[in-house]
Amino acid sequence: MKLILLGAPGAGKGTHAQQISEKYNIPQISTGDMLRAAVAAKTPTGIRADEFMKKGALVPDEIVLDLLRERIKQPDAKKGFVLDGFPRTIPQADALGKITGIDIVINIEAQDEVIIDRIVNRRSCSNKSCNAIYNIKNKKPKKEGICDICGSPLYQRADDNEATVRNRLAAYHKQTAPLIDYYAKKGKLTSVKSIGIMETFDVLQKILDGIKPK
Ligand code: ADP
Ligand code: ZN
Repeated sequence: MKLILLGAPGAGKGTHAQQISEKYNIPQISTGDMLRAAVAAKTPTGIRADEFMKKGALVPDEIVLDLLRERIKQPDAKKGFVLDGFPRTIPQADALGKITGIDIVINIEAQDEVIIDRIVNRRSCSNKSCNAIYNIKNKKPKKEGICDICGSPLYQRADDNEATVRNRLAAYHKQTAPLIDYYAKKGKLTSVKSIGIMETFDVLQKILDGIKPK
């Protein structure tokens, strides 16, 4: 199964991509996680990307596409994958179309006010091979500041503050939202409302169980 999760920052792409990855045994491919790993490792890519990410702007397409092409070639992605945070622009979607077919695109809908509140309360696992996501209001870890899954400390992403979130939302509306129409025209799009984590995941499972694995 090859799927794309579309949606604004904080709509729940990362959380649901992780649930889908576990349940359907396909890798979660998050360009945001890959970029943050590059920033932390201070690679040339990471140093360039950091300038954009700090401001809440999109990283240039060619940087993201290089990372994505490398990742999607890995053997674990042969049987399928869930793309989280990619594509984010029409040129990225066009490039993806040349690399692979996609079974379904799910657009997770959430309102801007809800998103800002969620992102400011978001905490992420600092272990790069885990990347679990929590919310200090409604998805608290069992022990404060510690990941339930791997026991690593949680941290707040550098771009998870109100000022940067507003820029990320603006970038989303301008550059990413046009992908909704783009995939609708290709007959690939299904929209789902972001209600609660488990409720939304139930809806997602019904949709995914209804499509044939490829
Ligand atoms: P969110 O969806 O909450 O914004 P992500 O982890 O997906 O979080 O992205 C964080 C940042 O990484 C974005 O604001 C952007 O700067 C960069 N980024 C991630 N994926 C892409 C992409 N496909 N194209 C351009 N920039 C990206
Ligand atoms: Zn963890």
